[in-house]
Amino acid sequence: MTHAPILLWFRRDLRLHDNAALQAALQTGRPLIPIFIRDGLIENLGAAPSWRLGQGLDALSGRLGDVGGRLVLRSGPVMTVLKALIAETGATSVMWNRLHDPAARARDEVVKQSLKALGIEARSFSGQYLVDPWQIATGAGTPFRVFTPFWRALQQQEIPAPLSAPTRLPAPEVWPESEALEAWALGRAMQRGAAVLERHVRVGEAAALDRLSEFRHDGLAAYPDRRDIPGAPGTSRLSAALSLGEISPRQCWHAIMAEEAAGNSGASAFLRQLAWRDFAGHLLFHDGALPDRCWRPEWEDFPWNRSGDTPEVLAWKQGRTGVPFVDAAMREMQVTGTMHNRARMIAASYLTKHLLTDWRIGERWFAEHLVDFDAASNAMGWQWVAGCGPDASPYFRIFNPETQKQKFDPQGQYTTAWIAEMSPDPSPLALEVFEALPRSWNMSPEDAYPDPVVGLPEGRARALAAYESFRDRSGSDSAAG
Ligand SMILES: Cc1cc2nc3c(=O)[nH]c(=O)nc-3n(C[C@H](O)[C@H](O)[C@H](O)COP(=O)(O)OP(=O)(O)OC[C@H]3O[C@@H](n4cnc5c(N)ncnc54)[C@H](O)[C@@H]3O)c2cc1C
Repeated sequence: MTHAPILLWFRRDLRLHDNAALQAALQTGRPLIPIFIRDGLIENLGAAPSWRLGQGLDALSGRLGDVGGRLVLRSGPVMTVLKALIAETGATSVMWNRLHDPAARARDEVVKQSLKALGIEARSFSGQYLVDPWQIATGAGTPFRVFTPFWRALQQQEIPAPLSAPTRLPAPEVWPESEALEAWALGRAMQRGAAVLERHVRVGEAAALDRLSEFRHDGLAAYPDRRDIPGAPGTSRLSAALSLGEISPRQCWHAIMAEEAAGNSGASAFLRQLAWRDFAGHLLFHDGALPDRCWRPEWEDFPWNRSGDTPEVLAWKQGRTGVPFVDAAMREMQVTGTMHNRARMIAASYLTKHLLTDWRIGERWFAEHLVDFDAASNAMGWQWVAGCGPDASPYFRIFNPETQKQKFDPQGQYTTAWIAEMSPDPSPLALEVFEALPRSWNMSPEDAYPDPVVGLPEGRARALAAYESFRDRSGSDSAAG
């Protein structure tokens, strides 16, 4: 029997509930040392996700403190940090919950082998998704490429019930030193936008559990009718908490399944949507290049504009295209760090089709600005809209932002809420945009709202012409979408 401490390595699982690594560590009865390592993968995060991570770590640190623990922060390559902590504390085990994106997997594999070579126990657990991506396969044993059969297969799986949270953590006799979270300055790239974001986010495990409970009781029944209306708060807004693991998908699944059992008619639409998150994880697990390369390789030859520096792309980033639905979407992201799903589809479609721009330019812009950034969901979303991804919307189906507005924002609640220049009496949200945007953009609520940078019919015709010539050249079936 050893009494040596266990290093519990937190990553994107900033919670005490339903934390399999934590529970396994507790079962040993040995002291636990919770750690978080700022390695190259953390350094590479975009401005808003990095800022949001800092908020999440602060909340986790408080949560651990409530149960007698501490969060030890260290920077550097993971093995260097772990070796130092092992030497300082006498720890003989490291435990963590698995991540499934290619960069984290490659790192974790090396870490596991290196720890084993040092005679240190290394154990990893599941919990990022409803089921681990390798647990689910088609009848032929291959990865799914289409969502609906994936969803059917997922419903056949046993989704483990969430684990409870501990009320007390066994502490080591001596705590190792921790770096100071403030010294990491994870929000530095946000500059003045950080103060604006702070007004709009709800951070930490307790807030996520409250939000799930509110949504379950007050929002779920209307979810199928309201989830597509960006001007009304009809969705769970749990994506940032899910992305950082402040709540687990299994907690959401079981809470909403209980509602389904009680006859709540909104439950199945929500569960299906939650399953898209698993589908994205499944796709990325089986194709690590999803964020970087067209899933259908022939689409690499599509005649995209590949420059992020054209005046049209700048107008898209600034929310100044002259197309209200698109501009409202881009401004919502600047202020809140999130964007309604329908708005994401319209903003992405406008960039890739009306502006004929490579989806990766938009994908990377979102990766800088979304507090709910998730490499898998972001890549899948962009490739789906652009027409080059698995189970994608065909390229020739071009969202018309005007008809989308008539359908999903008929009273203009969403567009008026976000675009100051369109209103004699702008909403507080619309004015906040100008606090959040870079000063160098020189934008003011007194500016005239711009004319469209590209006429909608003209943009559509240009996109369709590009598509036709691409299809004729590539001649492949998949180019038909
Ligand atoms: C171009 C594009 C980029 C996107 N980038 C991201 C991203 O970086 N991070 C991210 O979490 N989601 C992304 N999405 C998916 C989706 O827009 C968000 O998950 C959703 O808007 C979050 O709001 P919510 O929590 O209120 O969702 P709800 O409708 O309440 O759904 C509950 C949960 O299900 C999951 N979910 C719902 N819809 C989707 C979807 N289409 N794909 C994957 N998961 C889904 C999310 O985890 C969400 O929190 C993207 C979609 C598009 C079209």
